[in-house]
Amino acid sequence: MTRPLEVGVVGCGVAGQALSVLLAEAGHRVTLFERFAEPRPVGAGLLLQPTGLAVLEALGLGAEARARGARVVGLEARTSGGRRVLDLRYADLHPEAFGLGLRRTDLFDLLFARLRRSRAQVITGREMAGVERMQLVEPDGKRHGPFELIVAADGTNSVLRGALMPSLKIPLYRWGCLWATVPDPEGLGASGLLQQRVRGTTHMLGLLPVAPDRLTLFWSLPVQALARERAIDLASFRREATALWPQAAPAIERATQSELARATYRHVSLPRWNAGPVIFLGDAAHGTSPQLGQGANLALMDAWALARSIEESGNLLTALIAYERRRASTIRYYQRVSHLLTPFFQSRKAPLGWLRDAFLGAAHEVPGVRGLMTSTLAGTRRGWFASVPLDAAGRYPLS
Ligand SMILES: Cc1cc2nc3c(=O)[nH]c(=O)nc-3n(C[C@H](O)[C@H](O)[C@H](O)COP(=O)(O)OP(=O)(O)OC[C@H]3O[C@@H](n4cnc5c(N)ncnc54)[C@H](O)[C@@H]3O)c2cc1C
Repeated sequence: MTRPLEVGVVGCGVAGQALSVLLAEAGHRVTLFERFAEPRPVGAGLLLQPTGLAVLEALGLGAEARARGARVVGLEARTSGGRRVLDLRYADLHPEAFGLGLRRTDLFDLLFARLRRSRAQVITGREMAGVERMQLVEPDGKRHGPFELIVAADGTNSVLRGALMPSLKIPLYRWGCLWATVPDPEGLGASGLLQQRVRGTTHMLGLLPVAPDRLTLFWSLPVQALARERAIDLASFRREATALWPQAAPAIERATQSELARATYRHVSLPRWNAGPVIFLGDAAHGTSPQLGQGANLALMDAWALARSIEESGNLLTALIAYERRRASTIRYYQRVSHLLTPFFQSRKAPLGWLRDAFLGAAHEVPGVRGLMTSTLAGTRRGWFASVPLDAAGRYPLS
């Protein structure tokens, strides 16, 4: 669109920040609202895939992200007895391909500094509760706007989604995790792998390198054990995690009570991603369990695709239709696969653990299946039967 749009964005997370920069730089008048007075990163260290990295690159943040983060060459999951469950390498897609482990504070700092350099207006300490006549409304009735386009990028517990789609059920997964980012003087992350150890479906410990000398540790727990009113049972975490993976003991010991944080996740599935000219982006549209490590990548890709669709379309309606075309197959695929896989790693369904241990490792040898699994990890799938090949430099080609 050549005409500047008046855009209201709710949520200064991954999706909201990336979109606000892209739209403001395309000449649109963007106002971003964030509930926290001091916008801050929420959640654990994360793994950026070639998809998310391509968007950071397009925002001019690639080099700094690579300097702060840790290059990740693949994913390896084993049972406590050493049996292979997953063993995937980005190099199978392209010799130069890689993922990037990054502290969430680093991703946030990079995006927020970029946002500050753009012409988007950022208004903090404002929690939006609803939308009326294309105005954003705070709980006390204070209004902002009107806007021509409102973007709900307010995360997995989206209040705007609840206000505009009140009948939707957004179930909480029964399992979540404890996480902490810890120093890694022993070099547990030196292999450059996201490593996991599992026992059945009830025990899982993950170690993700997120900086040259730092790891983020993830420990799976049922949501009841993560309830705010319950103290974290540090002694049983240490005992059980060390029994599962003795070599990870130094990282486990360093995760102290004050550093361990709780995370729960929801399965968000919307029949459509817009309610008129209000569009849902990122976790507000398709939050899921982080089993496949895709949420932030999908959020970055959503932002890119929406900005591109607006740029290429003659009006807002065709832009929203173009956005849906660009994103539908990818988002639906990752939602389904995450939802399908999660109980094989986090549930009380023991037979799923037996099936996983018996067949998943062997599936790596089946022609085509290893490629499907690796491209799923890399974020490049556009459904069960299609994937976007990486370019000659091993990067994801944005289109
Ligand atoms: C333990 C864990 C590990 C993960 N690991 C990975 C990984 O390895 N790779 C990966 O890609 N993803 C990972 N994810 C998922 C990833 O964190 C999310 O998908 C991503 O942060 C979604 O971005 P978002 O912008 O949609 O939402 P968020 O980042 O949640 O941002 C939402 C923003 O909206 C603000 N907000 C909320 N409500 C309102 C309101 N009413 N008014 C104003 N502001 C509001 C919030 O304060 C927040 O700033 C992980 C998630 C968890 C929990």
